[in-house]
This record gives sequence, C-alpha cells and structure tokens, in this order.
Amino acid sequence: MSRPDRYAVVGNPIHHSLSPRIHTLFAEQTGQAMTYEARRGTPGQFAEEVGGWLAGELRGVNVTVPFKEDACQLAAVLSDRARRAGAANTLWTGDDGRIHGDNTDGVGLLRDLEDRLGCDLNGRRILILGAGGATRGILLPLLERTPAELIVANRTPARAEGLARDFADLAGDTRLQACALDALPDGPFDLILNATAAGLSEDALELPAGLVGPRTTAYDLVYGPAALRFLDWAEAAGCALSSDGLGMLVEQAAEAFAIWRGVHPETGPVLATLRHEAAD
Ligand code: NAP
Repeated sequence: MSRPDRYAVVGNPIHHSLSPRIHTLFAEQTGQAMTYEARRGTPGQFAEEVGGWLAGELRGVNVTVPFKEDACQLAAVLSDRARRAGAANTLWTGDDGRIHGDNTDGVGLLRDLEDRLGCDLNGRRILILGAGGATRGILLPLLERTPAELIVANRTPARAEGLARDFADLAGDTRLQACALDALPDGPFDLILNATAAGLSEDALELPAGLVGPRTTAYDLVYGPAALRFLDWAEAAGCALSSDGLGMLVEQAAEAFAIWRGVHPETGPVLATLRHEAAD
C-alpha cells in the first residue's frame, strides 16, 4: 500500500497553528490519503530548509508569519495574486519539478465576507487598518469588487502610502487612498477590516465610533482572544455585523487544499467544528 502524501505548515512561532487540525478535517471529509503537520522554520534559512522539504518528503507547504515573503522568493512559478502580494502562503512542487507559489489569503477573506457574511462590496466604502503582508494579500481581490472607496490606514503611514502607490494601477473606479492610523477620515464605512497585529500586543487601537454607521460590518483578520478588543469596540460602536478571522483561515486553507488535491472541501462543517472545539 502506498504511503499517504505529506504536507506541513511552516512558521515561527508555530505551536498555536490550527492548520494541521483544519487540513486533517478536510482530508477526512474528502477521503484524501494525506498527513499534515506543523514545523517551526528557522529565520534566515527558509530557502534551504523548505526547498529541501519540497525536494524530499513533502508534497506541499503552507507558509505563515514571518516567512510569506521568503516563500514568494523561493517559488520559481508564481500566481499573479502572489506576485502582486509579494507573498506566498501555499507552495508545492509542480509536475515540471519546479516550486510553485500562490497566495490564497485574499480569496479566503472574500469567500468568508461574501458567502458566509453576505457582504456586497461593490460601490461601498472600505477601511483597512494595517498595511503589512496581510493587507498586501487582500488588496487585489478587494479592488476587483470595485468598492467606491478603499482607504488603507497604518501606524506607519509611509507603509500605507507605499501600498496605495503599488496598487494604483488596479484601482480603476475605486478611490484608493492611504492615511495615518491617528488621522482617520470621517465615517461611516460599510466595512472596516482590522489587518493589524495590534490585538496580539498590549496596545489597543484607538478608534473613533464615528467610523461606524447602521450597516457597518467589522472584521478582524485575527481570530480567538486576540480579536476580542476590536470586536468589543465594534459592538459598542454599533456595527451591524462583526466577525473574527477564523472563517478566513478555514477558507484560505480550503483553497490551498484544492490546489494540492484537486478537490474543494466543504468549509462550513469545519468552521463549525473549530468554533465548537474553541468553546470547550
Ligand atoms: P505584518 O506584516 O507584521 O504587519 C503588521 C501590521 O500591524 C502593520 O501594519 C503594523 O503597523 C500593524 N501593527 C502592529 N502592531 C500594532 C499596534 N500595536 N498598533 C497599530 N498597528 C500595529 O503582519 P501581517 O502578515 O500583515 O498580519 C496581520 C495580522 O493578520 C496578523 O495578526 C495575522 O495573524 C493576521 N492574518 C490572518 C489571516 C487569516 O487567515 N485569518 C491571514 C493572514 C494574516 P506598522 O507598519 O506601523 O508596524
């Protein structure tokens, strides 16, 4: 009998990762013979380490903080969305023997926002807090929905300005702008995305309630306890809908799984299982 194909997620730190659980549930659901483990990567040695795994025992690798840019550089063949993001979260060895890279974060977010939460982004006002790798990964699919306005606000404004410049050619009819986190424009916004890592630190985001109107959706890309401060703010400010990023995590994983295995798992039951397990 042939041995199951092996996959892994690499990050540093990595002990908190839910990816092994998610992919194990996908594999059970779809009857795929595979294993999936978490591996701690060594900063500065990504290409040697992960290149070696892909040349050897692993069929594919998911990549998380802080290695997504290294993954983009390692891939010999990149999808358009990974090239635009300058970051890859999914690697695999193609039939041509070369390392391929894709970025499924953006499509994962959009699936969660549109399919689960019912958001329609066309013609809307969107505010993104943060201008790091995650924002770079979600800008392309957000702009493809042609919002009326998309503002990137960051603690370090130059980073937001750089992103607005880099994606200006894709803005089309959308007013794409950058600002400082402490100089936010007037609301209300239809969608406020928290793509900062502030929830993971001691510093809370100071956000004016005026950003929120009666139909505002607030979404934190982070999930679990780290999302609570932002979600509490959203509720107190009167957002119509709010969510953490667990759905995005499951959706981006499902896209990676589909690339590797050629079958798209059902995400709803897996998200429900994770929510149930988190509540235990
Ligand atoms: P990153 O590249 O390190 O960027 C971090 C961002 O957070 C920067 O804009 C940074 O601002 C800002 N920031 C950090 N601490 C802050 C604070 N105390 N106050 C205000 N801003 C602060 O990280 P990333 O890759 O973009 O990831 C951002 C978050 O998204 C992470 O927590 C990650 O786990 C999450 N994420 C979730 C998913 C999912 O599937 N749910 C996918 C991707 C990412 P400066 O530029 O000023 O430093």
